[in-house]
Amino acid sequence: MRIANVAGRLTIVTPAGGIDVEHASGGRFSADPAAVYERWAEFAAWAADVAPGGEPIDEATLGAPSPRPAQVFAIGLNYGAHALEAGYDIPEVPITFTKFPTCITGPQGELPIPGDRVDWEVELVAVVGRRAENVSTADAWTYVAGLTVGQDYSERRVQTLGQTPQFSLGKSFPGFGPTGPWLVTLDEFDDVDDLLLECTVNGALMQSGRTRDMIVSVPGILSRLSAVCPLLPGDLVFTGTPEGVGSGRTPPIFLRPGDEVVSTVERIGAIRQRCVAAAHAFV
Ligand code: ZN
Repeated sequence: MRIANVAGRLTIVTPAGGIDVEHASGGRFSADPAAVYERWAEFAAWAADVAPGGEPIDEATLGAPSPRPAQVFAIGLNYGAHALEAGYDIPEVPITFTKFPTCITGPQGELPIPGDRVDWEVELVAVVGRRAENVSTADAWTYVAGLTVGQDYSERRVQTLGQTPQFSLGKSFPGFGPTGPWLVTLDEFDDVDDLLLECTVNGALMQSGRTRDMIVSVPGILSRLSAVCPLLPGDLVFTGTPEGVGSGRTPPIFLRPGDEVVSTVERIGAIRQRCVAAAHAFV
């Protein structure tokens, strides 16, 4: 199953079109896409019996599949080749930071560029479907509602400011957390632990990796995070990026107004941003 946020309304995406959940359920489920994760199991059971149909979806109106997550976790340096290109050793424990929720947006639109060190990071994003507290790696996938595509846009100068750099602010400018185009449930994947993810800038392939090359797998990440913070329905987990970011190149490449970034994950889809000048340059 695929579910989308179409102009702010929870929608089941079928080959024949989009089905408005509030209407199709006679009001049993809210139109608010953020509300569904609190009742995910009940919703998924109901949705399994919904027949294909509905209206064509205008992709320009898509919002974030989980638009108001209570928590957004992100894992740094989770692919070995990316850790090395970033100038780090391969980490022994997952590097964890947040993208503050105000940066979470839908799959298409403009990306304001606030400085001259804005970089791209295509990532697989897991959306939490039920409260997860101290869960085992073996059980962790059962806490996931589904997967979506994310971009962990990063202003590298802000990311590394200070004596003990804290990544989170440099990852949280407006528009730095686009997600979408929809959430795809786990039954839609042949092998949920091995997905191709790619990123192009102005049509040139910059990143191409496979999630099987993560240092810590998605279940491993969820287990470790949930040993500290209970994971809540609708929370997002950005799972790290493969090699090929702009700052790792010789010479480095950073995003400028006019650039177009397309990020894809196999069997999910693509998200797309057009870079524009920010109203206020920060750095
Ligand atoms: Zn990242």
